[in-house]
Amino acid sequence: MKDHIETLCVQAGYRPATGESRIPPIVQSTTFFYGDSQAMADLFDLKREGFFYSRLANPTVDALEKRIAALEGGACGIGCASGMSAVLLTAMTLCQAGDNIVTASEIYGGTFNLFSTTLPKFGISSRFFDVDASAEELEALIDERTKFVFAETIANPAVAVADLEKISAVCKKNGVLFIVDNTLATPVLCRPLAWGADIVIHSTSKYMDGHAAALGGMIVDGGTFAYKDNARYPSFNAPDESYHGLVYADLPVAFGTKCRAQMMRDTGAVMSPQNAFYTLLGSDTLALRMERHSRNAEKIAAFLCAHPKIEWVRYASLPDDRYHALAEKYLPDGTGGMMSFGIRGDVKACARFMEHLRIATQETHVADVRSCVLHPASTTHRQLTDEQLIAAGIAPNLVRLSVGIENADDLIADLEQALAAV
Ligand code: PLP
Repeated sequence: MKDHIETLCVQAGYRPATGESRIPPIVQSTTFFYGDSQAMADLFDLKREGFFYSRLANPTVDALEKRIAALEGGACGIGCASGMSAVLLTAMTLCQAGDNIVTASEIYGGTFNLFSTTLPKFGISSRFFDVDASAEELEALIDERTKFVFAETIANPAVAVADLEKISAVCKKNGVLFIVDNTLATPVLCRPLAWGADIVIHSTSKYMDGHAAALGGMIVDGGTFAYKDNARYPSFNAPDESYHGLVYADLPVAFGTKCRAQMMRDTGAVMSPQNAFYTLLGSDTLALRMERHSRNAEKIAAFLCAHPKIEWVRYASLPDDRYHALAEKYLPDGTGGMMSFGIRGDVKACARFMEHLRIATQETHVADVRSCVLHPASTTHRQLTDEQLIAAGIAPNLVRLSVGIENADDLIADLEQALAAV
């Protein structure tokens, strides 16, 4: 019997034994006791499961890893210090100097920087495709040194929806991994593994926690990709001398084991037990919250569309949005709380609007219970001229809105009075 997502949000990942705490305790310990040296040796040989040092595994983090793996329908999760460290660890597990990544250009700015600026310094290059590119255009970018293709289910901040089946078909044809950042959709709205992705990444700092209380990242390995004898992945098929000759392709969960045993060991970019605990608490209500975020955002998008001071609105649930058909296919229950819109007027008009908001606050953040706004042209991208802003795909009048779980009528009244001030 398979449980539904609402049940998994609350129940998956931890089951106490008699007399143990009902919710996962915070195991605030770097290390774990063993009275028997053979038992410890077996842990190091991966012959038995258990905890020996919290850089590699910790019971509280383990509960969250199991929960998010269950939500995504994957084989295992790896808790990371942040969403960015999840992306970095994934790339490090797969790539070495001379390899390349094929990635949608419509991705989170931090990931874009990592792929376009930082990884090239280590000899790993990136090739960018428009998320709307045809299968042929995408395939033309893949060569024998491509280690993975990357996209976001719902792109931050472009709010574009990736055609997961199309991208996955190209990946399968070429025997290359397809990796999806599912942060803004969450497994409540879309499960990319079911659409052909091989690995899913989350910044748990967003909806998964939902309270803006804890930074974190998660990598979920689907566990089904065939690395064995795949010439594209020599590091999975040759013995790892740093791990007494282990051949990862021979293991049931090849990527997840390599990522933890090799890269988490070497980088230590691990999630803390405290942050895992907060994220577990937050994820209990993920299904409820995603429903409310989506319903609120639908009402607000409709309100903004009809407002004379609004030039355009981008939100995939709107019937005339360019990603509506893809949203209906991949996100039938809603597209979450993130949208962007253009105010009729200049940068000053946008600033005036935002200063008059009473509920939504200005923040460099998205996807938590509180509504927040950001005007990239006057904040994150303020050094750019109008021409440069347009070249970067950011209209000077673009406002990004992350709709929270407050009362939708209150949010609309707040937007209305702030627009009146423009
Ligand atoms: N992926 C997406 C889609 C994001 O929106 C973010 C952060 O906003 C990240 C990754 C990076 O996550 P973190 O801030 O937890 O490092």
